[in-house]
Amino acid sequence: MSALSLRDLNKSFGGSVVLNGISLDVEQDEFIALVGPSGCGKSTLLRVLAGLDHADSGDIFVGGRDMSPVAAADRNIAMVFQSYALYPHLTAGQNIAVPLAMKRLSHSQRLPLVGSLLPGQREIRTGIARDVREMAALLKIDHLLDRKPGQMSGGQRQRVALARAMVRQPSIFLMDEPLSNLDANLRVHARGEIVELHRRAGVPTLYVTHDQAEALSMADRVAVMIGGNLLQLAPPDVIYNDPAHIEVARFVGQPR
Ligand code: ADP
Ligand code: MG
Repeated sequence: MSALSLRDLNKSFGGSVVLNGISLDVEQDEFIALVGPSGCGKSTLLRVLAGLDHADSGDIFVGGRDMSPVAAADRNIAMVFQSYALYPHLTAGQNIAVPLAMKRLSHSQRLPLVGSLLPGQREIRTGIARDVREMAALLKIDHLLDRKPGQMSGGQRQRVALARAMVRQPSIFLMDEPLSNLDANLRVHARGEIVELHRRAGVPTLYVTHDQAEALSMADRVAVMIGGNLLQLAPPDVIYNDPAHIEVARFVGQPR
């Protein structure tokens, strides 16, 4: 049984097919780069996985469990977008704490997040503060915890977004072009950090990128999607040296 299994996912928007029978198995420790031309359905696939959108048909299994009846908030799938979407009015530390608070509070019968401390909430807060500090140390953002997003650089915001996504120990990690707003130097540096985070978390990761160098250097396997079809899924060297379709060859052969 794979850690993540997609079975024949289909989705159309107003008559145009965006996901055309996507099936994919990802192992627990695997890092998959999802590449393909703009508009081929990459973001839609991630949104469907995260439960932010629904497929017309098909199944998603996480650790063998059928995700279709499970609400987005309960899927324990972390997603990082290109625009980091941090809460602007909260500090970095508070941003990182939000998913932890949600998770723990839901385990305690969804106590209200704000307001006076109810019995039991004090321990929850102490635990959350400890987890935030550990994650901040890992990503070397300890010194930023009291700053708001407007007081940080793009690279710093990106690290806070990564910390926020990883802190609640998700069972799947989804990233949609998380580095595309960074300058070239930062991007190369961040690649290694993301791979390291993936290794430490030991969770299946789907990483959407436009950047073929990223796909080559980061991924265990590369999935090539074109026009809603998953045309090839193979290790990077196979994709680049032995493309299985003319469309894959055309796509990977494009100069960047
Ligand atoms: P990618 O991330 O690969 O660039 P997307 O998944 O964002 O592609 O989009 C795939 C196709 O689906 C595009 O043609 C896009 O215009 C269309 N699409 C995406 N979301 C919607 C939506 N909410 N309503 C209508 N069409 C959409
Ligand atoms: Mg996209």
